[in-house]
Amino acid sequence: MTGRHSKSVKGSTYSLTGNCRTSDRYYHVIRELTGLFLRQCPDEKRLLLHVRKAGSNRVSIAGDHDKALISYIKKTLIEALSLYTTGVKEHLRTLPLSQRLDSILRTKEVQYHLYMIEIELTNRIYKEAFRKSDYKFALIAHCLRDFRPDCRSSAGDIESVCRGCTKECFIHHGSVLLKKHAIHPYISLSIDLDKLFKKIRAEHQSVGALGIACVPELAEGMRLCIKMDISPVGIPLDANRCSRWMGQAHENSKS
Ligand code: SF4
Repeated sequence: MTGRHSKSVKGSTYSLTGNCRTSDRYYHVIRELTGLFLRQCPDEKRLLLHVRKAGSNRVSIAGDHDKALISYIKKTLIEALSLYTTGVKEHLRTLPLSQRLDSILRTKEVQYHLYMIEIELTNRIYKEAFRKSDYKFALIAHCLRDFRPDCRSSAGDIESVCRGCTKECFIHHGSVLLKKHAIHPYISLSIDLDKLFKKIRAEHQSVGALGIACVPELAEGMRLCIKMDISPVGIPLDANRCSRWMGQAHENSKS
């Protein structure tokens, strides 16, 4: 989606535009890195488990896991992706005590890099199952809306829906496009994704979810989908700029 922004947007901790005006270079790097790791570990699902293992000791891997691969992944990512996560250290240094229990807000820099590869791998693994799902829905981050008018979105059957009050709104453009592809678009406001996903899953034979959110929230949301037998695909926001990260909400983009 492109829109009003002529300059790249800067996030609280990360910006996929890096030193460029768009995120094209970022996606090129992510595809190259994923290809590189797949040459070391050709099984996409096994590689995904290793990427997740690299970020947490709690994720168990069936059978053996390759410690050398995990350390190679971490070392390669820090060298290749630090350019996109320049705000993490300062954010963590100044994070108030009261917010340190928030697992999303306290995400470490290495974990951002791992999430970036996790999102790419998850997309590759689940895109076909998503496409074939009986019911497809999208959750679009609310910070992608046009902040100039008062948003006229209203309650839909599962989440808020865009009412198209302005033509210059990313969410409006995205919603129109998604409907053309039989994907039901919603504005993501719910904090209880678990409950929301359970409800949707109970109503349909097979479900596919498209998430558009900041990197940590998207990766966690995709994990939850997999756990609940929903086929996820996701698009990370160019930056994290909502009030949760910046104290007050700033417009965002998806270039
Ligand atoms: S176009 Fe939709 S999402 Fe954008 S401000 Fe209007 S109602 Fe809200």
